Amino acid sequence: MIQIAFIGLGHMGLPMARNLLKAGYPLKVFDLVRSAVDTLAGEGAIAAVSASAAVDQAQVVISMLPASRHVESLYLGRDGLLEQLPAGSLVVECSTIAPESARKVHAAARERGIELLDAPVSGGTAGAAAGTLTFMVGGAAEALEKARPLLAVMGQNIFHAGPEGAGQVAKVCNNQVLAVQMIATAEAMAMGVANGLDPAVLAEIMRQSSGGNWTLEKYNPWPGVMENAPASKGYSGGFMAELMAKDLGLAQETASHHGNSAPMGALALQLYRLLLKQGKGKQDFSVVQQLFVE
Ligand code: NAD
Repeated sequence: MIQIAFIGLGHMGLPMARNLLKAGYPLKVFDLVRSAVDTLAGEGAIAAVSASAAVDQAQVVISMLPASRHVESLYLGRDGLLEQLPAGSLVVECSTIAPESARKVHAAARERGIELLDAPVSGGTAGAAAGTLTFMVGGAAEALEKARPLLAVMGQNIFHAGPEGAGQVAKVCNNQVLAVQMIATAEAMAMGVANGLDPAVLAEIMRQSSGGNWTLEKYNPWPGVMENAPASKGYSGGFMAELMAKDLGLAQETASHHGNSAPMGALALQLYRLLLKQGKGKQDFSVVQQLFVE
């Protein structure tokens, strides 16, 4: 059985790693937060004291970190993992990062004879726990075929988006749509409730009508409408507003490369920045609901 190192055990990484463990893969795990490592060690993973110790003897490395700077500092430079991994290793980098940053890490991996995929995901923490994530993969088709059995344990839909960095481009496009839908849903929920509607009734009408979208299906921002949504748990867990702001920033940069206009994404970014200024960056991104209620 192949040895896997899994680095980054946050909201997403922990349940993803857990699914690999459940499927019987031997896993060495590392996170800067010790309690996350201990949790998985309690479920059969080998705890590592550093990223470098985690990848020792591993044929496959999977990482799930917050942003570009974390990924670049993990893999690049003299102390980076790419210097340590032997040629022929496979790296599956699942964080959402800038496409240029992903291409930089791809180039360094290629130079060392290491196969790398940028493989960001969609589906949220519920999808990570259920093993139903969507993977958007950039890189060589042969590398994807090697990774496919592992991705199939963590996800349901696996797309080859294109060459190096293409997974990240697909991901920023998707998350811009998600943010705009979340804000539009929050705005409409507040308007309907202020005008006397029951939030659950309004949510169901819109869900079944032409305003229906993913946030109404799975992630309603109004507290109490969906029992398991972060909104019903004080906006805890889920996908932090500061990570959504990061993704909207990446979308603006990506749009600007070819002179594209992305006004909806720009407005969404400004609204998320406002939330961050209000100290709500660590809360789930559906906390944008609070901008529309007194
Ligand atoms: P998170 O902040 O909960 O988890 C990130 C983890 O990485 C943390 O536990 C942190 O301690 C760890 N970490 C940071 N630097 C490290 C290092 N050098 N070595 C080891 N561990 C390190 O974030 P998350 O919600 O799990 O998101 C991870 C990535 O997935 C982000 O890029 C995010 O945009 C993306 N994403 C998140 C969701 C979601 O619903 N939460 C959905 C899709 C994609």
